[in-house]
Amino acid sequence: MSAPPAPAVRLPAPMPRIRSALDKLVSFRQSEPARSPEGRFFPLAANESPYEPAPAVVRAIHEAALGVNRYPDHTCADLISEISARFAVPEDTVAVGCGSVGVTQMLLEAVAEPGTEVLYAWRSFEAYPILTRLSGAARVEVPLKDGVHDLDAMAAAVTDRTRLIFVCNPNNPTGTVLHRSALETFLDRVPADCLVVLDEAYIEYVRDDEAADGLTLLPGRPNVVVLRTFSKAYGLAGLRIGFAVGHPAVADALRKACLPFSVNGLAQAAAIAALREREALRARVENTVAERERVHRTLTGQGWDVTPSSANFLWLGLGERTGDFAGHCASAGVALRSFAGEGVRVSVGSPADNDAFLAAAASFRPKRG
Ligand SMILES: *Cc1c(COP(=O)(O)O)cnc(C)c1O
Repeated sequence: MSAPPAPAVRLPAPMPRIRSALDKLVSFRQSEPARSPEGRFFPLAANESPYEPAPAVVRAIHEAALGVNRYPDHTCADLISEISARFAVPEDTVAVGCGSVGVTQMLLEAVAEPGTEVLYAWRSFEAYPILTRLSGAARVEVPLKDGVHDLDAMAAAVTDRTRLIFVCNPNNPTGTVLHRSALETFLDRVPADCLVVLDEAYIEYVRDDEAADGLTLLPGRPNVVVLRTFSKAYGLAGLRIGFAVGHPAVADALRKACLPFSVNGLAQAAAIAALREREALRARVENTVAERERVHRTLTGQGWDVTPSSANFLWLGLGERTGDFAGHCASAGVALRSFAGEGVRVSVGSPADNDAFLAAAASFRPKRG
């Protein structure tokens, strides 16, 4: 009997080459799904505003919707002139992007590349390591000290390869805020050719008189850029729009690095309307700050150790109990952000959402093991 014919060797189909910078990259993670047995859901994972847009903002979006057969204004001219007037900054110092995460990517496109370093505190905003990896630059992460940026250690970690430093103020996820004097001392130590990005996504919620306001630090510091967003206090997270304010040369570089038409017309119109709704913004932020203090007080009364927060979220450094606590909250329908072995970040939402979280926290019993 002759041997059966050898099976044909099938070579793997050639695959497109993917940049090695992506090998270790995990996709951005949205919050854990949570739903109580009764199907209730309390979204406290993403630091969104619990308020729907003000009527004037909805009208602006509606009007802009009638024009979506046309491309948006790539220069965002009307919005930039509104921002310029509102924050008293020259128009040529402003650049708009697809969320402040979009502006962050534009900043990295402008200054980072393989062989350079990007420095930030850790733990901080999760977009920093993801976008830094994408840029091909090396990540230099300086541990927080008691939940606060360790500015001395960060200054000491700067090398001649450092192109960009993120300072998240208030810090996500710990909610801590840096004082102006400390930040000024730090900025004085950073070489003039290294960009410092002050990410102020939560600045509207700060109630600490000594806290730094990045816009006041810009004069005379061409290497400082302030990042602001419409996603949090302004309540436009779903439309993706944010902006940077910095030296005109930096703003110009950002405009070059912007993906064409990535800031859509609805977002631009809504942002202009939201900037004009100053009273609605004030009242909403005031409510959220009051809720933050109520949730903080109640948690402390329950015996939890909660970091005082300058943002619209609270940090519980639960360590080993983190997973159990997050699971317990998820089964009550409360979605929050958990960082295994470290702690949880819970947003300050509507009073009802916050009550659901407080009830879940009160009924938590750590598993014994
Ligand atoms: C939520 C958040 C932002 C906002 O990002 P957008 O892209 O504007 O939605 C920026 N920075 C930090 C630290 C944040 O937590």
